[in-house]
Amino acid sequence: MTAAAGGSMGDNSMPMLEATPVVDDALKRSPFDIECISLVHLYHLPDSDVVALRGVDLDISAGELVALLGPSGTGKSTLLRVMAGLLRPSAGQVLVGGQDVARMDAAELRRYRAVDVGIVLQDPLANLLPYATVFENIYFAAEGARALEMAPPLSVNDLISLLGLTSCAERQVATLSGGEQQLAALATGAAAGGRLLLIDEPTSQLDPVERDRVSGALHDLHAGSGATVVMVTHDPHLAASVPRTVTIRDGRVGTEGRHGTQYAVVGRDGTIQLPPEILEVLPRDTLLRIVRHADGIELRLPVSEEGLLSEARTHEEGPK
Ligand code: ADP
Ligand code: MG
Repeated sequence: MTAAAGGSMGDNSMPMLEATPVVDDALKRSPFDIECISLVHLYHLPDSDVVALRGVDLDISAGELVALLGPSGTGKSTLLRVMAGLLRPSAGQVLVGGQDVARMDAAELRRYRAVDVGIVLQDPLANLLPYATVFENIYFAAEGARALEMAPPLSVNDLISLLGLTSCAERQVATLSGGEQQLAALATGAAAGGRLLLIDEPTSQLDPVERDRVSGALHDLHAGSGATVVMVTHDPHLAASVPRTVTIRDGRVGTEGRHGTQYAVVGRDGTIQLPPEILEVLPRDTLLRIVRHADGIELRLPVSEEGLLSEARTHEEGPK
C-alpha cells in the first residue's frame, strides 16, 4: 500500500494536513476514568511466585495525563498491562470507564482492545510492522475499529500531522530513527481513537534531542486526542512536564507528585508508604506514636526502650 492508495481509505487520503488537527466533536468518544481497587498480581513461576502488584489503589480522572515513576521491577509495566486487559489481575478491581476490565468476557475484551484502549509497548518496534510505512502502520492499527464499524476520531493524516511525521510518512519504519519510530508507535496506539492511551517508557532509548521531540509530541497527542493518558517513565524531564506523577514502589502506590511537590498517599486500607529517606531512620518494626495536633500530625519516635516504657506508663496512668 502507498500513499496514493489512500483514496481507498475514505478520508485518510493524501495530501497531508498541515494544520494541527482537532478531534471532530461528533466523532469524539469521551475519555475513560480509571479506578484501581486493591489490585494484586502474582506471576506464577515453577519454583515460586513473584508478587508484582501488592494492593494498588489509584484513581485517575477522565482526560488526565499521569506519569507512573519508580525503580525497575516495582510493577509499573504489570499495572499498564492489567489496565490494557492484556493480563488478568490475581485479585482486586480495575474499573475503566466504570467497567471492571478484570471481569470482561472474551468478546468484551476484544472490543475494549480494538476501540477503547491503546497500548504502546516500551520497544517501539514491538508496536510496528518494520517493513510497512508509517502511514500503513497507523492505518492497520485501526483495523479492529473499522471491523466494528467505528470511525476513528483522528484520521491517519491527522495523527501523522499531530506527531510531526509528515516528512517520513511514506518511509518503512525500519529505516527511521529511534525517535521517529517512537512517534510512529504513539500514533498507532492512538489510531483506533482509544479513550485510554497507555504508554510504557516512551523516551527510554532516545538521545536528548529526540527525547524532547517525543515528549512534546506526547503532550500534543494528549491535547489533540482528548484521551486519558497513563505513561510509565524514568525520564526526569518528561516526568517534570506532567502535572501529576505517581511513584510505584514495591507493587504499591508510594508517593504522588503534584506540580513537582511530593506527597505520601493514604491507601484505601489506611496504610501510608514512608519514603526511603525516612525508612533509613525508621527500621522495620519501629514503634511509632501518631499524635494529632491542631496544625498537623506527628509521628513520635520513643527515644529508647526506657522512653517507650515511660510513655506506656504515662498512658496507663492517664494525665495527672
Ligand atoms: P517495572 O515495569 O516496574 O520494571 P514489571 O511490572 O515489569 O516492573 O515487573 C514487576 C515484577 O514482576 C518484577 O519482579 C519482574 O521480575 C516480575 N515479572 C514481570 N513480568 C514477569 C513475567 N512475565 N513472569 C514472571 N515475572 C515477571
Ligand atoms: Mg517496565
